[in-house]
Amino acid sequence: MPEVKSESLQETSTNNEDVIVSYKDVKKSFGDVHVLKGINLDIKPAEKVALIGPSGSGKTTIIRMLMTLEEPSAGEIIVDGKNLWHMEKNGKKVPANEKHLREVRGDIGMVFQHFNLFPHMTILENCMTAPIHVQKEDKESARKRSIEMLEKVGLGDKLENYPSQLSGGQKQRVAMARALVMRPKVMLFDEVTSALDPELVGEVLEVIRDLAEEGEMAMILVTHEMDFALDVADRVIFLDEGVIAEEGTPSEVLEHSDNERLQQFLHRFR
Ligand code: ADP
Repeated sequence: MPEVKSESLQETSTNNEDVIVSYKDVKKSFGDVHVLKGINLDIKPAEKVALIGPSGSGKTTIIRMLMTLEEPSAGEIIVDGKNLWHMEKNGKKVPANEKHLREVRGDIGMVFQHFNLFPHMTILENCMTAPIHVQKEDKESARKRSIEMLEKVGLGDKLENYPSQLSGGQKQRVAMARALVMRPKVMLFDEVTSALDPELVGEVLEVIRDLAEEGEMAMILVTHEMDFALDVADRVIFLDEGVIAEEGTPSEVLEHSDNERLQQFLHRFR
């Protein structure tokens, strides 16, 4: 058996307290298609970052890599001082194993466009299952925190309902509560409103806005809701053809940039 202790997480030289997520010259190709061409991005612990850009520009790939659902072709991603895809073993840098990936994943919560709730479980059970089975938390405390998080997203009166009994907006709020229960340091939101009927978008954005105002977690939001980005984000990043083509405060990027590609992109929302 390999010595398990030597596989523990290693702090890296970029263990900077002011940075929770760091992409270092990250590239990603699928076959001959170069989707990301060198992303450098540092995100601060409570920072809210909106990621915008045309379809196919690589937004989802950026966040899927953070969730360890895709591996970079080159470069490194550091989360809270831990290298996502590499670990040190016997003084050497080696590819991360499953145990290492599981540990780094614990810092990251994700809400998808489609809610991915378990249909045969109540919404309370949906929230409790990961803390109990992944984090090995005892049932009572998982239950207590799940109720707290469901109350936070305004569903305290629906604990025993099944997903099929809820509206799309309510399901998306359950998905948020389920991610929050894991106490992530970074929350990823990938176009969470784009599968919703227009009249349900507001209630979901409202919950995200409240979370943003609480200010504790870093948040990365892939969104087409420009007014929302303007309102909630500390920083907006415009991704175009696999590179960061523009970044700055929401006002700088959304209202005052003269980047031509960005102007073309924003024009569609006016
Ligand atoms: P966005 O979120 O900005 O729309 P994506 O990150 O989803 O962009 O996709 C960027 C590009 O990468 C697209 O051209 C897409 O077809 C391609 N792509 C994404 N995932 C895969 C995959 N698993 N295999 C092949 N190509 C992929």
